[in-house]
Amino acid sequence: MESFKKFIPSRRIFGVFSNDLAIDLGTANTLIYVEKRGVILDEPSVVAVKAGTNHVLAAGRVAKEMLGKTPESIIACRPLRDGVIADFELAESMLRYFIRAVHNNKRFFRGPRMVIGVPSGITQVECRAVRDSAEQAGARPGDVYTITESLAAAIGAGLPVHDPCASMIIDIGGGTTEVAVISLKNIVFCKSIRVGGDEMDRAIVNYVKRKYNLLIGERTAENIKINIGSVMFDTRIESMAIKGRDLISGVPKTLNLTSAEVNEALLETIRSIVDVVRVALENTPPELAADLVDRGIVMAGGGSLLRGLDKLLSRETGLPVRIADEPLLCVVKGAGKVLKELDFFKEALMK
Ligand code: ADP
Ligand code: MG
Repeated sequence: MESFKKFIPSRRIFGVFSNDLAIDLGTANTLIYVEKRGVILDEPSVVAVKAGTNHVLAAGRVAKEMLGKTPESIIACRPLRDGVIADFELAESMLRYFIRAVHNNKRFFRGPRMVIGVPSGITQVECRAVRDSAEQAGARPGDVYTITESLAAAIGAGLPVHDPCASMIIDIGGGTTEVAVISLKNIVFCKSIRVGGDEMDRAIVNYVKRKYNLLIGERTAENIKINIGSVMFDTRIESMAIKGRDLISGVPKTLNLTSAEVNEALLETIRSIVDVVRVALENTPPELAADLVDRGIVMAGGGSLLRGLDKLLSRETGLPVRIADEPLLCVVKGAGKVLKELDFFKEALMK
């Protein structure tokens, strides 16, 4: 066997095609990262299939454009809706589609190894399914690892996770907000709620419906949130023209929404996020809590970009709070680091 191995060309000869993949299978976005090349895929976690089949017609940005606009013969959906895999088979098809997309359908000599960040709420069976679909998509059998997203996010944010010292990460994604306290490469305490960016979008939809009898889509609401959304700290008043369907006359209509109104719409969602951070702090063992006084809290995920949220959390907890560099990339960069030092992180991975 040893002598036979000599004739197997080294992985380097195969260049990019044998490169290992780090994947963030997020509820809103899926990202794929390759060492030395960086993020090679960054697409919404949306898939469009022919109705009644698992035949993928489109995935990512193209499929997101179709959301809420498809004829009956096509189903466009987000298979990982609320931080859990809402549709098992579609999630599998989507993951396979993305992995194949970055590999241009090439067949590999040995297949790449993969580390995949998954939501902490995922079950063992779902974890297995994620690994299986990665193997089906060409990963090296037995070499697919899954890691809890908050741990990956902490590693990606550059926190010293291997120290016997607490780090706290708040990851606000589309479907969930996860708060984790990490020490010695392990999660000491983790709390996840099914409230995140999507819930903010829904809150805006409901607010506009209640106040103006105007029905807007969730994608319009997301645009509003990203453009003029903020928490009460931000005193700048901006406004934005929004379009929807008037519920009384039934015709399309445009109106102006101000940032103060968006602010009001988001109050409840933001309250839930503040509360979950409080609960996590209350459950942190005292020695570790003491570390947090100096080190503070780091935020990751797209939701952390909501204007003023870091300041609000800092005021509510009395701790320093900062947003990680490139918060949307933390999980995938963390998974990439784990892949590079697989032996060092092995015990932190989920089996
Ligand atoms: P996931 O890990 O669940 O895939 P992400 O970390 O990719 O989620 O974050 C996606 C969420 O972040 C979406 O709900 C999106 O609307 C929100 N988001 C992205 N940019 C901003 C921004 N500038 N302000 C507020 N929310 C944002
Ligand atoms: Mg995420």
